[in-house]
Amino acid sequence: MQFTDLGLGPDVLAGIAKLGFETPTPVQAEVIPFLLKSEQDLVALAQTGTGKTAAFGLPLLEMLDVDRVVPQALVLCPTRELCKQITHDIAAFAAGMSRVKVQAVYGGAEISSQLLALDRGVHIVVATPGRMVDLLERECADFSQINHVVLDEADVMLNMGFEEDLNTILSSVPEKARVFLFSATMPREVARIAKNYMQHAHEITV
Ligand code: AMP
Repeated sequence: MQFTDLGLGPDVLAGIAKLGFETPTPVQAEVIPFLLKSEQDLVALAQTGTGKTAAFGLPLLEMLDVDRVVPQALVLCPTRELCKQITHDIAAFAAGMSRVKVQAVYGGAEISSQLLALDRGVHIVVATPGRMVDLLERECADFSQINHVVLDEADVMLNMGFEEDLNTILSSVPEKARVFLFSATMPREVARIAKNYMQHAHEITV
């Protein structure tokens, strides 16, 4: 299996080539074609370090309408470090695309510069749940055009006590948005989120 077999376009493939990725990891080989072809939600049981970020990041970029500078994808993750890492990775995947804006939004840092960046216009928001709820409450950005939501490390987010924040966020994004949930394990709390916010989710275990 090659990256060129997964349904990705030339701009995204150029970003991968720049990074020197040669062959897709198993999670990428399964998840990327599914996200590009299907209309369904996804539950993926995958450990960290398996290439998850590209598995969702590359399709998010492929499905983006770059001409509309409004948040179209929201990635939620448990920690500030992961938030920065995912933002950095997606920006690197987008190296072959011009004008894609990816913004990290996390707690423990000045909200003003994050608000300013959102105000200037972004395509993809990568956020920790608490700060994302803060942004929603401030009604500072237009999240009405979000069509893809990624829950990365869902089990860790729920372990850290973010269930209420996730409920708030998932109730605020458009109902028709597709949800892609990644988790290393499937405890009851994760199953509950999947049941409440996802419809006929396709399940992949890597
Ligand atoms: P992740 O699980 O997304 O945190 O990725 C783990 C590490 O593997 C990161 O350093 C990625 O840059 C790297 N990586 C992801 N996919 C590939 C690939 N297809 N080929 C080579 N390295 C990769």
